[in-house]
Amino acid sequence: MSELLVEAIGVEKSFGSNHVLTGVNFTVCRGEVSCIIGPSGSGKSTFLRTINGLETADGGSLVVDGEQVGYRLQGDRYHAWNDREWAQFRSGIGMVFQRFNLYGHMDAIENVAASLIHVKRMSRTKAHERAQEELDRVGLGEHMYKKPHQLSGGQQQRVAIARALAMDPKLMLFDEPTSALDPELVDEVLETMRSLAQGGMTMIVVTHEIGFAREVGDTLSFFDRGTVLEQGTPDAVISDPNSVRTRAFLERVR
Ligand code: ADP
Ligand code: MG
Repeated sequence: MSELLVEAIGVEKSFGSNHVLTGVNFTVCRGEVSCIIGPSGSGKSTFLRTINGLETADGGSLVVDGEQVGYRLQGDRYHAWNDREWAQFRSGIGMVFQRFNLYGHMDAIENVAASLIHVKRMSRTKAHERAQEELDRVGLGEHMYKKPHQLSGGQQQRVAIARALAMDPKLMLFDEPTSALDPELVDEVLETMRSLAQGGMTMIVVTHEIGFAREVGDTLSFFDRGTVLEQGTPDAVISDPNSVRTRAFLERVR
């Protein structure tokens, strides 16, 4: 049946005296699309960054694809991951940010090929072949040789998605991928994400696009003050939220 890909139990994270994640319980099964909503500053980005190892949790348990993130069990003792183990882990998880973070001086195909060459050690020819496939997949085959400034925001975000997909991730994280876009460019990015979901990709999506969450999400979680106040089917969370705070938030974004 459905196999857990991400399981967070009581995950905590502080920055100095700022207790940002106060005990996050959250699960995603393989092949699921899990959407996250919640007020600004509630810890959504920090949680995503914890899942792909850009931040390390300082409490609780985080298991991704059967591995305790940051630790390896040897005999009956846990050992902290070394740099190579962290790099290996991170390369299996794709992340797409609000700002596209493309290399400005490289054209689209070079942006997608860069990690294939430098991380996966592919030849330049092979990397470009693969990059072309990924750009075709997000509908940008005709724009391969354009630099970021020659592309619209929506196209740049699709390049960022193609770049993440080229690494064959087992999990894709999206942190408000359409929030920086002009309204008329939002749909093309959501459409790309929808087709990725239909292809069976496991995705965690922080978004204010309630319509997308409802239509594409298998689950919807509401983040508040560093915890998940509720996680359920989008319909259940949206039409019948358990908590007063979820209800108030949904009334504001609708
Ligand atoms: P959200 O994505 O829900 O808006 P964030 O995870 O970005 O929330 O931020 C939650 C809190 O963590 C904020 O108070 C923010 O200032 C703080 N924070 C996030 N990253 C860092 C960091 N690298 N150093 C210090 N504080 C941080
Ligand atoms: Mg954020």
